[in-house]
Amino acid sequence: MENSTGMKAQEFALVSISELGSSSSPSSPAVARFSAGENGAAELRFLPESESAAAPVNVDLRAAKLFKLGPVQSVCISEGSDTGKENQKLYSKGLTILFKIEEESGAFHNAFEQWKKELAVEGKCLPNGELSSSKSKFDDKIEPSSAKMYFHYYGQLLHQQNMLQDYVRTGTYYAAVIENRADFTGRVVVDVGAGSGILSLFAAQAGAKHVYAVEASEMAEYARKLIAGNPSLGERITVIKGKVEDVELPEKADILISEPMGTLLINERMLETYVIARDRFLRPNGKMFPGVGRIHMAPFSDEYLFVEIANKALFWQQQNYYGVDLTPLYGSAFEGYFSQPVVDAFDPRLLVAPSISHLIDFSKVKEEDLYEFDIPLRFVASVGTRVHGLACWFDVLFGGSTVQRWLTTAPGSPTTHWYQLRCVLSQPIYVMAGQEITGRLHMIAHNAQSYTIYLTLSAKMWGPGAEQGGIIQSSSCKLDLKEPYYRMSQPQPYVMAQDQQPHQQLHSQDVPIDSQDFDDHEFIPLTEFAKDKTGGL
Ligand code: SAH
Repeated sequence: MENSTGMKAQEFALVSISELGSSSSPSSPAVARFSAGENGAAELRFLPESESAAAPVNVDLRAAKLFKLGPVQSVCISEGSDTGKENQKLYSKGLTILFKIEEESGAFHNAFEQWKKELAVEGKCLPNGELSSSKSKFDDKIEPSSAKMYFHYYGQLLHQQNMLQDYVRTGTYYAAVIENRADFTGRVVVDVGAGSGILSLFAAQAGAKHVYAVEASEMAEYARKLIAGNPSLGERITVIKGKVEDVELPEKADILISEPMGTLLINERMLETYVIARDRFLRPNGKMFPGVGRIHMAPFSDEYLFVEIANKALFWQQQNYYGVDLTPLYGSAFEGYFSQPVVDAFDPRLLVAPSISHLIDFSKVKEEDLYEFDIPLRFVASVGTRVHGLACWFDVLFGGSTVQRWLTTAPGSPTTHWYQLRCVLSQPIYVMAGQEITGRLHMIAHNAQSYTIYLTLSAKMWGPGAEQGGIIQSSSCKLDLKEPYYRMSQPQPYVMAQDQQPHQQLHSQDVPIDSQDFDDHEFIPLTEFAKDKTGGL
C-alpha cells in the first residue's frame, strides 16, 4: 500500500512477543506491521497470531524506542493502546520481541529507524507541530492554552510581516549572514523557529549546503510556499513542521540560525528552545547565529510616565459612579497598572546612570539556567532626581568569522519592534548626583511563556540625618512580563521637554504630584498640566 509518506507498509514475522516485566503475559508468535496511521503518523502494530493469546498492540512510532537486548532479542518501549479493548487506554509499554534470525532483527531495526526518520523529515505530524502523543519537553513546562495562542499568533502572516518590516532586525540578520558567507557556504544549517522561512532563505543565499527550517506553527505551510516560489534557494531548504523539542533531523548542523528574542530578550521563553536546538541538532563546536545576548539595565526618571500610570487608576476614585462608590477597587487598580512593564521607545537622556549588563552565552548556557535570573544591581546616579524605575533593553551578537555584528534595541538607536521595556515603581526614590543606587532584578519563568519580574531599587535618603549614616529608601514592585503596557501610540511629551532643558523636567516641582501622595493610595487632585500631558481622565 502506498501511503502519504511514500513508504510501503512492511511486515515482519516474529517468533514471539511478550509484555516486559509481566510474568503473566503470554508469549505468542506475532506479526509486526509498519504502516501510516489514519493521521499520517507512523504506526507499528503487533498482531498476535492466535487471537486468544493476547490483544493486538498499536505503537505510535513517534514516541517509541527500540533497544537490542541480544542478537535475536529486542525490546520496544512505547506508549501503547490496546485496540481490542473498548476504551483505548494510553500507557507506557515494554514489549520483548524475539526474532528468528539475526538478519531479521537487523532488518526490523532498520525499518523502525527509517519509518521514524521519514516521518520526522517529511513533517507528517499533527496540527501545530505536535509530533508526539507523548508529552514533550515543551509541553512539560508550557501551559497548553498559552502554547495554542502563541502558535496561533505566529501562524498569521500579518505578525510575520511585522517582524519582516522591522528593517533594523531583518537587515541586521541579512548583513550578518551575507557578510559571513564563509560560515554558511557548504554548511548544514538549522533555522530554529523559521516563521516565514526568511532566515533559511538568507542562509541559502549565503551558500548553505542544506537548511532545515523548523517551525511549529501553521506558518510552516506559508514558509513551504515561499520557499517553493524561490526554487534556486528552495531546493536546498527542507521545511519541517513541528516543535524544535520534538522533531528529528537526519543530520547534525554546522550552524544554527534563529531569532528567538522576545521583549527584554527573554519573553516568550524561546531562548530555551534555541538552547534545546543546540543540544539536539548542533555538532560539537558548531556556530550559533546569534551567539550571545545581553540584557542592559539602567535607572530612569520619567515624571510623565509615572503620572500617566498613576492616573489610569484614578477612575476608581469616583465615589458616585451612577450612584456606586468605586473606591474599594482603587488600590487593586493602582497595583494592577504598576504591575505592567511599559513598552515604548524612550529618550536615553531619561537614564540617570550608566547602564550595566547581564550576558547570556547561547553556546554555553544550560536550558535550566534560563528558568530564573537573579541580577544584582548597582549604579551611580549621574544627576540628582527622582528615580521612577528600571529601564531595560537588549542586544545580540553575530560572531561571524569575517564580521562581528551586534543587533541592538538600545534607546537612542534606530527603533525596533521590540522597543525598550521599563519597570515603573509605584513609589519613586530620590537620589543625588554621585549617589549609589543598589537593588535586585529577579525574574522567574512561568508556564505562560514569560516571566514574573521582582524589582527592588534602594538608595540612601539624603537631607537631614544622611550624615549620620542615612536612611535607606527602598522601593519594590512585581510585574508580569506577559502583560506589558504598549505605550508606543501615546504622545511622548518628554522628548520636547528634554530638548529644551535636559533633565530639568525631572524635578518633582514640574509635576504637582509627590510620591508621598501615593503612599496609601489617596485621591490625588490633578492640575490641568498633568491632565494635558496624559490625555485627561
Ligand atoms: N525566523 C523568523 C521568525 C521568528 S519568530 C524570522 O526571523 O522572521 C519565532 C518563530 O519561532 C515563530 O514563527 C514561532 O512559531 C517559532 N517557534 C517558537 N517556538 C518554537 C518551537 N518550540 N518549535 C518550533 N518553532 C517555534
